[in-house]
Amino acid sequence: MQQATVSTVAAATTLFHGDAEGKELPSGEGHGKDEHMTHHDTAAIVQAHPNWKHDTETLAAIAQAGGWEKYVAVHGKEVAERAFYRPGLEKAVACMDEGDDETTVDGEELHLIRNAGSGILNMELDDLLGNAEFDPLDPAYIEQLADAFIARGITVIHCHGGCGAGGIALEKKWEKKLGRKLTPEDKKQYVTPEAVDALVQEFSRLVVEAMQRKLKAMGREEDAAKVRMHFKPIEQLSRPAEAHIAQVIYYDGTNAFKTSSGVLPRGFLVSAQALSEKGGEKTVDLAKAISFGGHGPGELLSGDRKLHVVCIGDPSNPAFSSEALMERAMSWIASLPEDQRNRIVIESFTAPAARH
Ligand SMILES: [Zn+2]
Repeated sequence: MQQATVSTVAAATTLFHGDAEGKELPSGEGHGKDEHMTHHDTAAIVQAHPNWKHDTETLAAIAQAGGWEKYVAVHGKEVAERAFYRPGLEKAVACMDEGDDETTVDGEELHLIRNAGSGILNMELDDLLGNAEFDPLDPAYIEQLADAFIARGITVIHCHGGCGAGGIALEKKWEKKLGRKLTPEDKKQYVTPEAVDALVQEFSRLVVEAMQRKLKAMGREEDAAKVRMHFKPIEQLSRPAEAHIAQVIYYDGTNAFKTSSGVLPRGFLVSAQALSEKGGEKTVDLAKAISFGGHGPGELLSGDRKLHVVCIGDPSNPAFSSEALMERAMSWIASLPEDQRNRIVIESFTAPAARH
């Protein structure tokens, strides 16, 4: 099972380079037994998952209401109370993965700020996948992240098993070490599920150490003591271990949206305020590549069933209003090939006020 999930990495990497129409996994790119897993197998796993069914029903209700804005207007109280974090919760950085959405860690509810692999990929780089120099454990990069997380009041670095972003990061690390692109054989040898899980934990540990050191240097001993990491094994994700099931990518201008409420569909979550415009757009693009890929819903997202990119506007911050985010999203979709554009709908709603 774990073998299959980490192949998400191979699929995501291939798709990120623009090949989104593969009916089966990239030939020779799979890891171990996963090579024999077809798109048909993945579709069956996706459709059997209870969260896929629940999301599909909710999306039908949204369509019937006339779209997201209208649906949220009708269900405003419920959305406000359940789909946004209440103020004052301890903050964690976590992956955008739709399955990594449970917000309670060790019995305590956390407010998750989400991006690709909790920052293990530098989405601000112009050509991340083509860049042979990027190293997720580079001390300068870790320092930069530690500063950013301290500035945002984050105290928990959360990571998870079977992380697609972690897999890409591990490929980047090996590319740098070997001085060349990895062959399928290299990937089989180096990008194993165990190695990916070890890397995301090592990354989180280094960020925690850097944050603690910096906070102590500022005289903030108590804050330093709160900083910690948390790893969630793949079996605990709210999606199947072998596949992604998200039909929605949220581009959240409030940084306070919670995907696990059950009120709205689950989905990838990109916390827009934690990224630059370019970084946010590229993270949405990566989520799209996974959704359309051999380990996502893939061809299930066609015809009447589309991939929803939903901008969530902050009513009190014009830079992250639904209009501002929609403008970004429209320029992003205009850059996609026509066959992909036809499979995506972009919608928005403004967060019900006073919940974040
Ligand atoms: Zn992840």
